[in-house]
Amino acid sequence: MKISEHFTLEELSFSEAAARLGLDNTPISIVITNLRLVAAVMERIRTLLGDRPIIVHSGYRSAEVNHAAGGVVTSAHCHGLACDFVCSAFGTPAEVALAILKSDIEYDQLILEYGWVHVGLAQGGLISRQEALTKRSTLAAYESGIRA
Ligand SMILES: [Zn+2]
Repeated sequence: MKISEHFTLEELSFSEAAARLGLDNTPISIVITNLRLVAAVMERIRTLLGDRPIIVHSGYRSAEVNHAAGGVVTSAHCHGLACDFVCSAFGTPAEVALAILKSDIEYDQLILEYGWVHVGLAQGGLISRQEALTKRSTLAAYESGIRA
């Protein structure tokens, strides 16, 4: 099911961990509403990156799936408010993150992670923090800013 011009509900709620472990990752309606917001922001990012294809690594993760994947409990992914992705036709994750940082696209958190970019949105009614961070490995602490 398309939830924006270039993104489907399936790709934004696909979980490799869920498929591997046989866990349910079906989004409930509030999550679908949130994923539509994420898809709208991802469309803006796609345009910013020259209309190049974006590969989604992870969007919605149910609490159970998030736990299995080692995600933090407060993860925006659990609300369907985050997307991990790459756009290799544009550049490296660092180049993608820097392009978003320099744009006027609104986000709560922009994180350059080890191998992809995380964009998280604020929960309904909360102000977007426009917080940019870098996380170099699973165990590394978050560093302030986008650090290539
Ligand atoms: Zn993420």
